Amino acid sequence: MVVTPLEILKALVDLQEIDVRILELENDSKQIPNRLKEIGNIVGSKKTELNDELNRLDEAEMARRLAESDLKAEKEKIKKWESRLNDIKSNRDYQALSREIEACRKANLGIEDEILRKMQDIEDLKTSSGQKKEELAEKDAELSKERQALEEKLASINASIAGEEKGRNQAKERVESRWYEQYQTISRRREGIALVDVLDEHCQGCHMGIPPQLYNIILKGAQIETCPYCSRILYFKPALVDLDIEKASSGQE
Ligand SMILES: [Zn+2]
Repeated sequence: MVVTPLEILKALVDLQEIDVRILELENDSKQIPNRLKEIGNIVGSKKTELNDELNRLDEAEMARRLAESDLKAEKEKIKKWESRLNDIKSNRDYQALSREIEACRKANLGIEDEILRKMQDIEDLKTSSGQKKEELAEKDAELSKERQALEEKLASINASIAGEEKGRNQAKERVESRWYEQYQTISRRREGIALVDVLDEHCQGCHMGIPPQLYNIILKGAQIETCPYCSRILYFKPALVDLDIEKASSGQE
């Protein structure tokens, strides 16, 4: 546990540096799940497009087969009727059946057109679904690489955060809980920056001028003081650096 105001300030500054790094790491990692989801959506929608196309191809092939079997049946019917024509004695019946046969032939032309249209559709759909399949494979390969890289990055960020958390616990143990609580409260209100340094009699957080008497206290690190305007804890950087040097020369931790 640290006791002098300077030591407390130093410990809080160390804690804040860790917290700033943790926050940065968390911000970096926050983007990753979104991008992973985006990648999933891109691949998913390409797969859906391809499946739609393949379904249309199936439908076109089925329609063609149906039309072909219809045509076959109609042609057989015509054949039967034609052979029956020879047996018909009545002129009127003969004419009637001839007309039927003619109508059937005309209808068959429509079916043949339909078959040709379907064959064209099938050809087009085979081409476009083939292209879509290639696009999907390409995109999938490209995004798989990106996904893998992102997952690796996420794992490394999480490992870094875990390391920082360890250091944070150690830093936290060095400060009394009341200072830690105050640090946390200000930090929450000030977007993670609870301590700021002073420069030329100005707070480096809100850039307001600091009254001379207060400024002198901060330069010496005689007490822990907050900025009258933004309420952040103020410290004088060189004083903390001096503290490090003193510690190193006296052989302390
Ligand atoms: Zn301020």
